Amino acid sequence: MPRSGYYADDEMIPLSGIQHFMFCERQWALIHLECQWQENFLTAEGALLHERVDDPSVRKSGPFGIVTLRGLRVASRRLGLFGVADAVELHPVATGKRSVAELVASREFTIMPVEYKRGHRKISDCDRYQVVAQAMALEEMYGAEISRAAVFYWEERKREYVEVDAELRDRVTDVSRRMHEAYRSGRTPAAKRTGSCRACSMEDMCMPGRIKADVTDYLKTLFDEEIA
Ligand code: SF4
Repeated sequence: MPRSGYYADDEMIPLSGIQHFMFCERQWALIHLECQWQENFLTAEGALLHERVDDPSVRKSGPFGIVTLRGLRVASRRLGLFGVADAVELHPVATGKRSVAELVASREFTIMPVEYKRGHRKISDCDRYQVVAQAMALEEMYGAEISRAAVFYWEERKREYVEVDAELRDRVTDVSRRMHEAYRSGRTPAAKRTGSCRACSMEDMCMPGRIKADVTDYLKTLFDEEIA
């Protein structure tokens, strides 16, 4: 955390990295430090879903006067994170038909970010932390207080609610601090095979269990495979 408590423009890093960092710190480093990416079926499906939901030109008014904003740019100087919130719902405190402009001007609404995930309902810390970071960014941007967020699981068309409490806020702050430390270090952790590797789109590039910290060992492994 910078001494001022706020990160500068050139220190901001992508909020979406939270899910990569929580999944595997090496995966995060490959994507965010080395700018590598490898698509698989799951990531391609996720990208298509976000193409559909992240359209900033869509402003939907739903039942009970709820207004949904899509693809809203968010940033938190305190966390040093920036990104895009899939959907941000404005829930009017008082009922009555009002335009989005009137609603925003009145400030009589509660804000709830909704993150879209392609898979089944299996809310994980990755999903929770990402949407709580969005809530914290929205609070900072609009001087609001947000007590609830949601994750929508596309395959089941169901949403799970997340209470934005003090414990989750502390954890998100801690993950963001660790991400900044990792970013400043510029080092990619060594590959180590774990249970996550089978679901990882970067497996072919990462080669866990094959790349050793010592390059001599790695070359010897390759050589042994060649002549076997
Ligand atoms: S293959 Fe395994 S070690 Fe490599 S980035 Fe993916 S999860 Fe991490």
